[in-house]
Amino acid sequence: MSEASEVLFIEGGRVIDPAAGVDGVRTVVLRAGRVAEVAERVERPRDARAIDARGRWVTPGFIDAHVHLREPGQEYKETVETGGRAAVAGGFTSILAMPNTVPPNDTVAVTELILARAAQAGLARVYPVGCISKGQKGEELAELGDLFQAGCVAFSDDGKPVMSPALMRRALEYALVFGVPLAVHEEDLALVGKGVMNEGPAATRLGLKGSPSQAEDVMVSRDVALVELTGGRLHVCHLSTAGAVRAVRDAKARGLPVTAEVTPHHLALTDEDVARSGYDTDFKMAPPLRSEADRAAVQAALADGTIDCIATDHAPHSAVEKDLEFDAAANGIVGLETAFPVCLALVREGLLGERRLIEALTASPARAFGLPGGSLARGAPADLALLDPGLEWRCDPARFHSKSRNSPWKGRALVGRCTHALVGGRLVHELGEGAR
Ligand SMILES: [Zn+2]
Repeated sequence: MSEASEVLFIEGGRVIDPAAGVDGVRTVVLRAGRVAEVAERVERPRDARAIDARGRWVTPGFIDAHVHLREPGQEYKETVETGGRAAVAGGFTSILAMPNTVPPNDTVAVTELILARAAQAGLARVYPVGCISKGQKGEELAELGDLFQAGCVAFSDDGKPVMSPALMRRALEYALVFGVPLAVHEEDLALVGKGVMNEGPAATRLGLKGSPSQAEDVMVSRDVALVELTGGRLHVCHLSTAGAVRAVRDAKARGLPVTAEVTPHHLALTDEDVARSGYDTDFKMAPPLRSEADRAAVQAALADGTIDCIATDHAPHSAVEKDLEFDAAANGIVGLETAFPVCLALVREGLLGERRLIEALTASPARAFGLPGGSLARGAPADLALLDPGLEWRCDPARFHSKSRNSPWKGRALVGRCTHALVGGRLVHELGEGAR
Protein backbone atom coordinates (compact mmCIF):
# COMPACT_ATOMS: atom_id res chain seq x y z
CA MET A 1 0.00 0.00 0.00
CA SER A 2 1.35 3.36 -0.95
CA GLU A 3 0.92 6.43 1.19
CA ALA A 4 -1.32 9.15 -0.11
CA SER A 5 1.49 11.69 0.25
CA GLU A 6 3.73 9.77 -2.12
CA VAL A 7 4.10 10.53 -5.79
CA LEU A 8 2.97 7.77 -8.10
CA PHE A 9 3.37 7.55 -11.88
CA ILE A 10 0.99 5.44 -13.92
CA GLU A 11 2.74 4.95 -17.21
CA GLY A 12 1.97 3.69 -20.69
CA GLY A 13 -1.77 3.08 -20.36
CA ARG A 14 -4.56 4.34 -22.57
CA VAL A 15 -6.12 7.09 -20.51
CA ILE A 16 -9.87 7.35 -21.14
CA ASP A 17 -11.26 10.37 -19.32
CA PRO A 18 -14.47 11.43 -21.06
CA ALA A 19 -15.03 14.38 -18.70
CA ALA A 20 -11.70 15.90 -19.78
CA GLY A 21 -11.97 14.78 -23.40
CA VAL A 22 -8.82 12.67 -23.11
CA ASP A 23 -8.38 9.37 -24.96
CA GLY A 24 -4.81 8.31 -25.65
CA VAL A 25 -1.59 7.00 -24.17
CA ARG A 26 -0.63 9.25 -21.28
CA THR A 27 1.25 9.24 -18.02
CA VAL A 28 -0.86 10.05 -14.97
CA VAL A 29 0.98 11.60 -12.04
CA LEU A 30 -0.64 11.36 -8.62
CA ARG A 31 0.54 13.45 -5.70
CA ALA A 32 -0.86 13.89 -2.19
CA GLY A 33 -4.02 11.99 -3.02
CA ARG A 34 -4.86 14.05 -6.09
CA VAL A 35 -4.25 14.02 -9.81
CA ALA A 36 -1.22 16.25 -10.40
CA GLU A 37 -0.79 15.81 -14.13
CA VAL A 38 -1.93 13.84 -17.18
CA ALA A 39 0.52 14.27 -20.04
CA GLU A 40 2.12 12.51 -23.00
CA ARG A 41 5.67 13.02 -21.75
CA VAL A 42 6.64 13.39 -18.13
CA GLU A 43 10.09 12.98 -16.57
CA ARG A 44 9.94 10.53 -13.72
CA PRO A 45 12.41 11.11 -10.85
CA ARG A 46 14.47 7.96 -10.33
CA ASP A 47 13.09 7.35 -6.83
CA ALA A 48 9.42 7.84 -7.76
CA ARG A 49 7.12 4.84 -7.74
CA ALA A 50 5.45 3.75 -10.95
CA ILE A 51 2.80 1.33 -12.17
CA ASP A 52 3.28 -0.04 -15.66
CA ALA A 53 -0.15 0.27 -17.31
CA ARG A 54 0.84 -0.72 -20.84
CA GLY A 55 -1.95 -2.59 -22.62
CA ARG A 56 -4.49 -1.36 -20.13
CA TRP A 57 -7.08 1.37 -19.84
CA VAL A 58 -6.57 3.99 -17.16
CA THR A 59 -9.86 5.61 -16.21
CA PRO A 60 -11.37 7.60 -13.38
CA GLY A 61 -12.52 5.20 -10.67
CA PHE A 62 -16.03 3.96 -11.36
CA ILE A 63 -18.92 5.39 -9.36
CA ASP A 64 -21.82 3.07 -8.56
CA ALA A 65 -25.02 4.92 -7.69
CA HIS A 66 -26.78 1.81 -6.43
CA VAL A 67 -25.23 -0.62 -3.93
CA HIS A 68 -26.82 -2.56 -1.07
CA LEU A 69 -24.17 -3.00 1.64
CA ARG A 70 -26.54 -4.72 4.12
CA GLU A 71 -24.87 -3.18 7.18
CA PRO A 72 -26.35 -2.59 9.69
CA GLY A 73 -28.51 -5.63 10.28
CA GLN A 74 -27.73 -8.23 7.64
CA GLU A 75 -23.99 -8.60 7.95
CA TYR A 76 -24.25 -12.27 6.98
CA LYS A 77 -24.98 -11.07 3.43
CA GLU A 78 -22.47 -8.21 3.18
CA THR A 79 -20.76 -5.56 5.27
CA VAL A 80 -19.50 -2.11 4.44
CA GLU A 81 -16.03 -3.65 4.35
CA THR A 82 -16.77 -6.70 2.17
CA GLY A 83 -18.95 -4.62 -0.14
CA GLY A 84 -16.17 -2.05 -0.36
CA ARG A 85 -13.71 -4.79 -1.22
CA ALA A 86 -16.01 -6.11 -3.95
CA ALA A 87 -16.41 -2.56 -5.23
CA VAL A 88 -12.72 -1.80 -5.66
CA ALA A 89 -12.13 -5.25 -7.17
CA GLY A 90 -14.64 -4.25 -9.84
CA GLY A 91 -13.08 -0.82 -10.41
CA PHE A 92 -15.63 1.11 -8.32
CA THR A 93 -13.94 3.68 -6.08
CA SER A 94 -17.15 5.42 -4.99
CA ILE A 95 -20.44 3.78 -4.12
CA LEU A 96 -23.82 4.98 -2.93
CA ALA A 97 -25.13 2.86 -0.06
CA MET A 98 -28.85 2.29 -0.37
CA PRO A 99 -30.86 2.77 2.83
CA ASN A 100 -32.87 -0.47 3.09
CA THR A 101 -30.71 -1.83 5.90
CA VAL A 102 -32.03 -3.17 9.22
CA PRO A 103 -32.87 -0.70 10.65
CA PRO A 104 -33.16 1.42 7.54
CA ASN A 105 -31.06 4.54 7.14
CA ASP A 106 -33.71 6.97 8.30
CA THR A 107 -31.71 8.31 11.24
CA VAL A 108 -28.43 10.15 11.67
CA ALA A 109 -27.15 7.26 13.82
CA VAL A 110 -27.35 4.83 10.90
CA THR A 111 -25.79 7.31 8.45
CA GLU A 112 -22.93 7.89 10.89
CA LEU A 113 -22.42 4.17 11.45
CA ILE A 114 -22.09 3.56 7.70
CA LEU A 115 -19.63 6.43 7.34
CA ALA A 116 -17.59 5.20 10.32
CA ARG A 117 -17.42 1.65 8.94
CA ALA A 118 -16.40 2.98 5.55
CA ALA A 119 -13.62 5.07 7.12
CA GLN A 120 -12.38 2.00 9.04
CA ALA A 121 -12.41 -0.13 5.91
CA GLY A 122 -10.50 2.48 3.87
CA LEU A 123 -11.58 0.99 0.54
CA ALA A 124 -14.16 2.63 -1.73
CA ARG A 125 -15.60 5.99 -0.79
CA VAL A 126 -19.09 5.32 0.58
CA TYR A 127 -21.87 7.87 0.19
CA PRO A 128 -24.95 7.02 2.25
CA VAL A 129 -28.41 7.45 0.79
CA GLY A 130 -31.12 8.30 3.33
CA CYS A 131 -34.69 7.08 3.38
CA ILE A 132 -37.45 9.16 1.83
CA SER A 133 -39.99 7.94 4.37
CA LYS A 134 -39.64 6.86 7.99
CA GLY A 135 -38.97 3.15 8.08
CA GLN A 136 -39.50 3.14 4.31
CA LYS A 137 -43.16 2.70 5.13
CA GLY A 138 -44.30 5.30 2.62
CA GLU A 139 -46.33 7.18 5.22
CA GLU A 140 -44.31 10.00 6.79
CA LEU A 141 -41.28 11.82 5.42
CA ALA A 142 -38.01 10.96 7.12
CA GLU A 143 -35.95 13.78 8.64
CA LEU A 144 -34.37 14.67 5.32
CA GLY A 145 -32.60 17.76 6.66
CA ASP A 146 -30.86 15.84 9.45
CA LEU A 147 -29.88 13.04 7.06
CA PHE A 148 -28.47 15.53 4.56
CA GLN A 149 -26.47 17.27 7.29
CA ALA A 150 -25.09 13.87 8.38
CA GLY A 151 -23.79 13.14 4.90
CA CYS A 152 -26.56 11.59 2.81
CA VAL A 153 -26.19 12.54 -0.85
CA ALA A 154 -29.64 11.44 -2.02
CA PHE A 155 -32.89 10.00 -0.68
CA SER A 156 -34.57 6.75 -1.63
CA ASP A 157 -37.02 4.13 -0.42
CA ASP A 158 -35.35 1.70 -2.82
CA GLY A 159 -36.46 -1.85 -2.58
CA LYS A 160 -39.91 -0.31 -2.66
CA PRO A 161 -41.60 2.42 -4.66
CA VAL A 162 -43.09 5.50 -3.05
CA MET A 163 -46.69 4.59 -3.75
CA SER A 164 -48.28 7.80 -2.46
CA PRO A 165 -48.07 10.59 -5.04
CA ALA A 166 -48.73 13.16 -2.33
CA LEU A 167 -45.76 11.92 -0.26
CA MET A 168 -43.61 11.85 -3.39
CA ARG A 169 -44.59 15.44 -4.12
CA ARG A 170 -43.61 16.59 -0.63
CA ALA A 171 -40.34 14.65 -0.81
CA LEU A 172 -39.43 16.28 -4.14
CA GLU A 173 -40.19 19.72 -2.70
CA TYR A 174 -38.25 19.09 0.49
CA ALA A 175 -35.19 17.55 -1.21
CA LEU A 176 -35.05 20.55 -3.52
CA VAL A 177 -33.99 22.64 -0.52
CA PHE A 178 -30.81 20.55 -0.32
CA GLY A 179 -30.31 20.23 -4.06
CA VAL A 180 -30.14 16.42 -3.96
CA PRO A 181 -32.08 13.94 -6.08
CA LEU A 182 -34.63 11.36 -5.06
CA ALA A 183 -33.51 7.96 -6.36
CA VAL A 184 -36.65 6.00 -7.04
CA HIS A 185 -37.57 2.35 -7.46
CA GLU A 186 -40.37 2.59 -10.01
CA GLU A 187 -42.87 -0.25 -9.77
CA ASP A 188 -46.59 0.20 -9.14
CA LEU A 189 -47.19 -2.52 -6.57
CA ALA A 190 -50.84 -2.96 -7.54
CA LEU A 191 -49.79 -3.76 -11.11
CA VAL A 192 -46.91 -5.96 -9.95
CA GLY A 193 -49.38 -7.97 -7.92
CA LYS A 194 -47.91 -11.39 -7.29
CA GLY A 195 -45.69 -11.16 -10.37
CA VAL A 196 -42.23 -12.68 -9.98
CA MET A 197 -40.90 -12.10 -13.49
CA ASN A 198 -41.70 -10.01 -16.56
CA GLU A 199 -45.19 -10.57 -17.98
CA GLY A 200 -44.89 -12.13 -21.41
CA PRO A 201 -44.51 -15.38 -23.32
CA ALA A 202 -41.57 -16.60 -21.20
CA ALA A 203 -43.55 -16.24 -17.96
CA THR A 204 -46.52 -18.00 -19.53
CA ARG A 205 -44.36 -20.95 -20.66
CA LEU A 206 -42.73 -21.20 -17.24
CA GLY A 207 -46.05 -20.99 -15.44
CA LEU A 208 -44.82 -18.05 -13.36
CA LYS A 209 -46.90 -14.97 -12.55
CA GLY A 210 -45.86 -11.97 -14.60
CA SER A 211 -45.51 -8.29 -13.78
CA PRO A 212 -46.10 -6.02 -16.80
CA SER A 213 -43.53 -3.47 -17.96
CA GLN A 214 -46.31 -0.89 -17.53
CA ALA A 215 -45.91 -1.27 -13.74
CA GLU A 216 -42.68 0.69 -14.25
CA ASP A 217 -43.91 2.98 -17.03
CA VAL A 218 -46.80 4.46 -15.05
CA MET A 219 -44.59 5.25 -12.04
CA VAL A 220 -41.93 6.97 -14.14
CA SER A 221 -44.60 8.98 -15.94
CA ARG A 222 -46.20 9.94 -12.63
CA ASP A 223 -42.90 11.08 -11.16
CA VAL A 224 -41.94 13.06 -14.26
CA ALA A 225 -45.27 14.87 -13.84
CA LEU A 226 -44.42 15.54 -10.18
CA VAL A 227 -41.00 16.89 -11.19
CA GLU A 228 -42.82 19.25 -13.50
CA LEU A 229 -45.00 20.32 -10.59
CA THR A 230 -42.24 20.76 -8.01
CA GLY A 231 -38.97 21.39 -9.83
CA GLY A 232 -37.43 18.65 -7.67
CA ARG A 233 -34.70 16.33 -8.94
CA LEU A 234 -35.55 12.76 -9.89
CA HIS A 235 -33.15 9.88 -10.50
CA VAL A 236 -34.79 6.77 -11.91
CA CYS A 237 -33.13 3.66 -10.50
CA HIS A 238 -32.53 0.53 -12.59
CA LEU A 239 -34.65 1.66 -15.55
CA SER A 240 -35.74 -1.44 -17.46
CA THR A 241 -38.53 -0.71 -19.95
CA ALA A 242 -38.98 0.91 -23.35
CA GLY A 243 -41.88 2.93 -21.91
CA ALA A 244 -39.72 4.35 -19.11
CA VAL A 245 -37.06 5.25 -21.70
CA ARG A 246 -39.70 7.23 -23.63
CA ALA A 247 -40.81 9.04 -20.46
CA VAL A 248 -37.23 9.98 -19.49
CA ARG A 249 -36.35 11.02 -23.05
CA ASP A 250 -39.42 13.25 -23.16
CA ALA A 251 -38.66 14.72 -19.71
CA LYS A 252 -35.09 15.57 -20.75
CA ALA A 253 -36.28 17.11 -24.00
CA ARG A 254 -38.46 19.39 -21.89
CA GLY A 255 -35.48 20.36 -19.74
CA LEU A 256 -36.70 18.66 -16.56
CA PRO A 257 -34.10 17.63 -13.94
CA VAL A 258 -34.43 13.88 -14.48
CA THR A 259 -31.57 11.37 -14.63
CA ALA A 260 -31.59 7.59 -14.92
CA GLU A 261 -29.46 4.51 -14.45
CA VAL A 262 -29.52 1.03 -15.98
CA THR A 263 -28.01 -2.16 -14.58
CA PRO A 264 -25.59 -4.46 -16.39
CA HIS A 265 -28.15 -7.28 -16.13
CA HIS A 266 -30.95 -5.31 -17.76
CA LEU A 267 -28.51 -4.43 -20.55
CA ALA A 268 -27.38 -8.00 -21.05
CA LEU A 269 -30.25 -10.36 -20.21
CA THR A 270 -33.95 -10.82 -20.95
CA ASP A 271 -36.85 -12.82 -19.55
CA GLU A 272 -35.88 -15.60 -21.99
CA ASP A 273 -32.71 -16.02 -19.90
CA VAL A 274 -34.93 -16.84 -16.92
CA ALA A 275 -36.40 -19.61 -19.02
CA ARG A 276 -33.00 -20.80 -20.28
CA SER A 277 -31.65 -20.85 -16.72
CA GLY A 278 -34.34 -23.30 -15.64
CA TYR A 279 -35.88 -21.30 -12.80
CA ASP A 280 -32.48 -20.21 -11.46
CA THR A 281 -33.28 -17.64 -8.75
CA ASP A 282 -30.07 -15.76 -9.61
CA PHE A 283 -32.12 -14.47 -12.54
CA LYS A 284 -34.79 -13.04 -10.23
CA MET A 285 -34.72 -9.36 -9.38
CA ALA A 286 -36.99 -6.30 -9.22
CA PRO A 287 -37.58 -4.84 -11.67
CA PRO A 288 -37.41 -8.17 -13.50
CA LEU A 289 -35.45 -9.02 -16.63
CA ARG A 290 -37.59 -7.67 -19.46
CA SER A 291 -38.32 -8.46 -23.10
CA GLU A 292 -35.88 -8.26 -25.99
CA ALA A 293 -37.58 -5.00 -27.13
CA ASP A 294 -37.07 -3.49 -23.68
CA ARG A 295 -33.45 -4.57 -23.62
CA ALA A 296 -32.84 -3.01 -27.05
CA ALA A 297 -34.48 0.21 -25.83
CA VAL A 298 -32.31 0.53 -22.70
CA GLN A 299 -29.17 -0.29 -24.70
CA ALA A 300 -29.95 2.47 -27.22
CA ALA A 301 -30.90 4.89 -24.43
CA LEU A 302 -27.59 4.29 -22.64
CA ALA A 303 -25.68 4.82 -25.88
CA ASP A 304 -27.43 8.12 -26.69
CA GLY A 305 -27.29 9.47 -23.12
CA THR A 306 -31.02 9.29 -22.34
CA ILE A 307 -29.96 6.90 -19.60
CA ASP A 308 -27.11 8.66 -17.83
CA CYS A 309 -25.29 5.97 -15.95
CA ILE A 310 -24.66 2.30 -15.32
CA ALA A 311 -25.35 1.22 -11.73
CA THR A 312 -25.10 -2.34 -10.49
CA ASP A 313 -27.97 -2.61 -7.97
CA HIS A 314 -25.51 -4.93 -6.16
CA ALA A 315 -27.95 -6.88 -3.95
CA PRO A 316 -26.24 -9.59 -1.90
CA HIS A 317 -28.36 -12.44 -0.55
CA SER A 318 -27.35 -15.70 1.09
CA ALA A 319 -28.47 -19.17 0.04
CA VAL A 320 -31.12 -18.91 2.76
CA GLU A 321 -32.95 -16.27 0.70
CA LYS A 322 -32.05 -17.61 -2.75
CA ASP A 323 -32.05 -21.39 -2.53
CA LEU A 324 -35.84 -21.55 -2.70
CA GLU A 325 -38.42 -21.98 -5.41
CA PHE A 326 -38.61 -19.08 -7.82
CA ASP A 327 -41.81 -17.64 -6.34
CA ALA A 328 -40.39 -17.52 -2.83
CA ALA A 329 -36.80 -16.43 -3.49
CA ALA A 330 -35.54 -12.92 -2.69
CA ASN A 331 -35.04 -10.40 -5.48
CA GLY A 332 -31.58 -9.26 -6.48
CA ILE A 333 -28.09 -10.25 -7.56
CA VAL A 334 -24.55 -9.17 -6.80
CA GLY A 335 -22.95 -7.08 -9.52
CA LEU A 336 -19.90 -5.10 -8.46
CA GLU A 337 -17.27 -7.63 -9.57
CA THR A 338 -18.81 -8.41 -12.97
CA ALA A 339 -20.21 -5.06 -14.15
CA PHE A 340 -17.23 -4.02 -16.27
CA PRO A 341 -16.88 -7.19 -18.38
CA VAL A 342 -20.65 -7.58 -18.77
CA CYS A 343 -20.95 -4.01 -20.10
CA LEU A 344 -17.76 -4.27 -22.16
CA ALA A 345 -19.45 -7.05 -24.13
CA LEU A 346 -21.86 -4.39 -25.47
CA VAL A 347 -18.87 -2.54 -26.88
CA ARG A 348 -17.71 -5.64 -28.73
CA GLU A 349 -21.24 -6.08 -30.12
CA GLY A 350 -21.10 -2.52 -31.48
CA LEU A 351 -23.94 -1.33 -29.23
CA LEU A 352 -21.93 1.11 -27.12
CA GLY A 353 -18.82 3.22 -27.64
CA GLU A 354 -15.82 2.69 -25.37
CA ARG A 355 -15.75 6.30 -24.22
CA ARG A 356 -19.50 6.34 -23.57
CA LEU A 357 -19.14 3.15 -21.51
CA ILE A 358 -16.49 4.79 -19.33
CA GLU A 359 -18.48 8.02 -19.11
CA ALA A 360 -21.56 6.10 -17.91
CA LEU A 361 -19.43 4.56 -15.15
CA THR A 362 -17.61 7.75 -14.11
CA ALA A 363 -18.52 11.30 -15.14
CA SER A 364 -22.26 10.70 -15.56
CA PRO A 365 -22.96 9.36 -12.05
CA ALA A 366 -20.67 12.04 -10.57
CA ARG A 367 -22.78 14.68 -12.30
CA ALA A 368 -26.13 13.10 -11.41
CA PHE A 369 -25.28 13.09 -7.69
CA GLY A 370 -22.91 16.07 -7.49
CA LEU A 371 -20.01 13.92 -6.31
CA PRO A 372 -16.29 14.58 -6.52
CA GLY A 373 -14.43 12.21 -8.85
CA GLY A 374 -15.46 10.89 -12.21
CA SER A 375 -12.60 12.73 -13.90
CA LEU A 376 -8.80 12.85 -13.97
CA ALA A 377 -8.64 16.64 -14.24
CA ARG A 378 -5.73 18.23 -12.38
CA GLY A 379 -6.66 18.48 -8.71
CA ALA A 380 -9.33 15.78 -8.88
CA PRO A 381 -9.23 13.02 -6.26
CA ALA A 382 -6.70 10.35 -7.27
CA ASP A 383 -9.40 7.71 -7.69
CA LEU A 384 -8.55 5.47 -10.64
CA ALA A 385 -9.26 2.11 -12.20
CA LEU A 386 -6.78 0.20 -14.33
CA LEU A 387 -8.61 -2.16 -16.65
CA ASP A 388 -7.40 -4.96 -18.83
CA PRO A 389 -10.03 -5.00 -21.61
CA GLY A 390 -8.76 -8.29 -23.05
CA LEU A 391 -8.31 -10.32 -19.89
CA GLU A 392 -10.32 -13.55 -20.09
CA TRP A 393 -11.52 -15.12 -16.87
CA ARG A 394 -14.18 -17.43 -15.62
CA CYS A 395 -16.70 -16.08 -13.13
CA ASP A 396 -16.42 -18.17 -9.98
CA PRO A 397 -18.62 -16.66 -7.26
CA ALA A 398 -16.69 -18.64 -4.63
CA ARG A 399 -13.82 -16.25 -5.34
CA PHE A 400 -15.86 -13.06 -5.01
CA HIS A 401 -14.80 -10.52 -2.42
CA SER A 402 -18.49 -10.04 -1.75
CA LYS A 403 -19.88 -12.27 0.99
CA SER A 404 -22.67 -13.35 -1.32
CA ARG A 405 -22.64 -15.59 -4.38
CA ASN A 406 -25.94 -14.79 -6.11
CA SER A 407 -24.66 -14.09 -9.61
CA PRO A 408 -26.24 -15.08 -12.94
CA TRP A 409 -22.74 -14.98 -14.45
CA LYS A 410 -21.47 -17.94 -12.42
CA GLY A 411 -19.42 -20.29 -14.55
CA ARG A 412 -19.46 -17.93 -17.53
CA ALA A 413 -16.39 -16.83 -19.47
CA LEU A 414 -15.98 -13.06 -19.17
CA VAL A 415 -13.61 -10.70 -20.96
CA GLY A 416 -12.24 -7.58 -19.27
CA ARG A 417 -11.23 -7.02 -15.69
CA CYS A 418 -10.06 -4.39 -13.28
CA THR A 419 -6.43 -5.04 -12.33
CA HIS A 420 -5.81 -2.09 -9.98
CA ALA A 421 -7.93 0.42 -8.13
CA LEU A 422 -6.69 3.52 -6.35
CA VAL A 423 -8.60 5.70 -3.93
CA GLY A 424 -7.04 9.02 -2.95
CA GLY A 425 -3.78 7.80 -4.48
CA ARG A 426 -3.71 4.64 -2.34
CA LEU A 427 -3.62 1.28 -4.07
CA VAL A 428 -6.70 -0.45 -2.62
CA HIS A 429 -6.93 -3.34 -5.08
CA GLU A 430 -4.45 -5.29 -7.13
CA LEU A 431 -5.51 -8.40 -9.02
CA GLY A 432 -3.38 -11.36 -7.96
CA GLU A 433 -1.01 -12.76 -10.58
CA GLY A 434 -2.78 -16.11 -10.35
CA ALA A 435 -5.99 -14.53 -11.59
CA ARG A 436 -4.49 -13.02 -14.75
ZN1 LIG B 1 -34.67 -1.00 -6.48
